[in-house]
This record gives sequence, C-alpha cells and structure tokens, in this order.
Amino acid sequence: MTKDALAQAQADYAALKAKNLKLNMQRGQPSDADFDLSNRMINALSVEDLHMDGLDLRNYPGGVAGIPAARSLFADYLDVKPENVLVWNNSSLELQGLILGFAMLHGLRGSAGGWVHQKPKMIVTVPGYDRHFLLLQTLGFELLTVPMQSDGPDIDAIEKLAAADASVKGVLFVPTYSNPGGETISAAKAAKLARLKAAAPDFTIFADDAYRVHHLLDERDTPVNFVALCRDAGHPDRAFVFASTSKITFAGAGLGFVASSEDNIKWLSKYLNAQSIGPNKVEQARHVKFLQAYPSGLEGLMRDHAKLIAPKFQAVYDALERELGQDGGGYATWAKPKGGYFISLDTAEPVAARVVELAEGAGISLTPAGATFPAGQDKEGRNIRLAPTRPPLEEVGVAMQGIATCIKLATEERRATR
Ligand code: PMP
Repeated sequence: MTKDALAQAQADYAALKAKNLKLNMQRGQPSDADFDLSNRMINALSVEDLHMDGLDLRNYPGGVAGIPAARSLFADYLDVKPENVLVWNNSSLELQGLILGFAMLHGLRGSAGGWVHQKPKMIVTVPGYDRHFLLLQTLGFELLTVPMQSDGPDIDAIEKLAAADASVKGVLFVPTYSNPGGETISAAKAAKLARLKAAAPDFTIFADDAYRVHHLLDERDTPVNFVALCRDAGHPDRAFVFASTSKITFAGAGLGFVASSEDNIKWLSKYLNAQSIGPNKVEQARHVKFLQAYPSGLEGLMRDHAKLIAPKFQAVYDALERELGQDGGGYATWAKPKGGYFISLDTAEPVAARVVELAEGAGISLTPAGATFPAGQDKEGRNIRLAPTRPPLEEVGVAMQGIATCIKLATEERRATR
C-alpha cells in the first residue's frame, strides 16, 4: 500500500518537475497590485504642504519624535495619545534594533545599567519571525523560546522563565496575526503579561504589531493595547509597541513607528537625538496626506489590500484541501488565520526540509525549513511558512498544488523507510 502511494507520489513529482515552474512563495512581500494602491502617494504633497504643522519640512528643526500630524495619525492606529508615539523612518525593525541597542548600552529606564553587562536573555515565541531571531542574536542576546499558542504566547512558560532569572529582560513577539502562524494574543493573556511578576525590574514587552490592521475577513481578531494594559498594571514603562506602513503603502519606503509611555518616548528621543537631527519629515507628511485622502482612509486602504490578499489565502487552502484532503489527509495540518501575511503549515512527519528541497527542485521556492526557529533549528522538523501575498493569484494555486505533491512524496519516502 505504502509502496503504491510512494510510486504514485514519485510519478506526480516527475510530472511536476516536467512543468519547469519558476514560482516564489518565500518572502512576505506585497504584490505589485498592493503597491499600486499607494502609487498616488507619490503626488500626495503640494509645495504648500512643505510647511505642514508650522514646520519647514525641508529643514532640520522639528525634533526626533516625528511631525505632529504623523504622530497623531499613528497614535490613532495604535490606540494611544500622540505623546506616546515616535514616528521614525522606513523600518520598524530598525526601531526595534535601535531601542534594543540602546538598552544593551545604557539599559532602559529603571535599569541598573547596560544590559550587555548582564548576559541578557530575551524570550521569543516559536514558530516565529526569523528577523527577530537574527536581530536579537546579532545584538548579543541569548534566546529562550516559548510556544506560540492559538491565543498568543504561552504566558505560563514566560512567567516561569521571567520569575526565575533577572537576566531575562523581556519578550519579543507579534501580538496580532503573528508571523508565521497568524495567532492573535487574547485580552486575558495580554493582561496577564502586563501584570507578570518578573525577577528583572526592567522586564519589557517588545510587541511587534506589524499586522495590527491587516484583517483579511469580516470576522476580525481584536488587537490589544499593551501601553494601556501596562500602565493600568502599574508597570507604565513595560511595553514598546512597534508597527509600520511597510505592508500598507510601500514595503521599502513606508514609515516605522513605536508607542510607549511618555517617559519612554522621552528616553528614546534623547538617544535618537544624539545620532540624528530627525527623521524624514517630507515622507511623514506625504504619508499623512495620502492616507487622509484615501477613500475611507486607512480602513479603506486595508479593505482594498484584503480584496487582493484574501483570495490568495483561499487559493492556498483550496489547493491543499484538494490535493491532501479536507483535514490534511494525515500529511499535514495548517492554520487559517483571519489576517496577516502568512500561513503556517506543519507536516505530519518530520519532513519539512525535504519538502522545501523537493519544491526547490521543481522550481518553487519556499522559506527555508527551520527559519521560523532560532538558528534555523526546528527540532521537530515539521514547520513550513507559506507566504502567498507576492505572487499573482493564479500562481499561488499552481505553486500550492506543487507543494502538496512535494509534501506527499516527502511523507511517503519517509514512511517507506520504516
Ligand atoms: N515585523 C514583522 C513581524 C514582519 O513580518 C515584518 C516584515 N516581514 C517586519 C517586522 C518588517 O517591518 P519593517 O519593514 O517595518 O522593518
């Protein structure tokens, strides 16, 4: 029986290879059609706008926290006051790196000194975002992992780690429509995290809210507000919440911003001011004008993105269900997130690396197996991150049909060795 299934899977794979495909399901990038929604941003500014908010946007003065109109716009976005927001340049990952770097050198508010002297550890969720792991490890953090669950990080596991060791300085994770699983932290778990008793007085929640408004369906997850939760829990400086317009306007030319307590924003401004006279104010004004003018504003733009992206997620599910069976047929299981940019798939057997290899051999590139774990080490060897946003819709279906063929072959190969 297994032999027949293996022979069939081998024949299907040979047919797949013969198609000479060249498809990419690897990186979480918007499609050209997504970018086109924001093309009018290029002309969103007039010469008069160069004096927005009473500033000459062409000149230096204005401060490092961003122009008032941009702070106000992204304060609404993150459900805080403008004083709680700092708007920077085109990358929220850069802001994360800057803040973590300052913490390493000087400590955060309430720290005894630079974390670098304290052999710092940071908790991350797995499966998670490879660039978080790269950033933290490059800065010198030791990573501790906790599972991401359907309602957010395993808070009990975080509590255990944080309570036991003062060198555990915090947790970095994606609170809404996480990368790669699409999970959103529940209100109850978020409140627990805000209240958590940590051995380190400067234990900090680094919430990378990259997909806060990236809903795909009418039924939505509800994002949490860590700045308010931590304030109410008596830890006003505990949270930094990051986001950007990278998946809203232009991935490489958007705006990154961060929310925290007013004191933390002042703390951050002090260090940023030492290395920059200020962010690109013209780009900030351009985003403000464009997003304000978009029909129904940011909400309207996100609905237009969802119209392009939701069918691609559906094409992934349709292909997997058609090829493997409604419930994955004993080959794989996958999440069906209500938003975000990724679908996380787990193979039943530990064959993720073989699936990626087979797919590559058939001209379909996938995120490297293990990328969703620190140092690329997926001990179970089962997780694959699918990124359907970039290719055109027709290609997503074709690529996923091919990937299903690879999943079947890798699984049957493995079962045949038993
Ligand atoms: N955070 C997460 C969770 C992401 O998935 C991404 C993009 N893949 C980023 C941050 C990158 O954001 P930015 O472009 O603002 O640096």
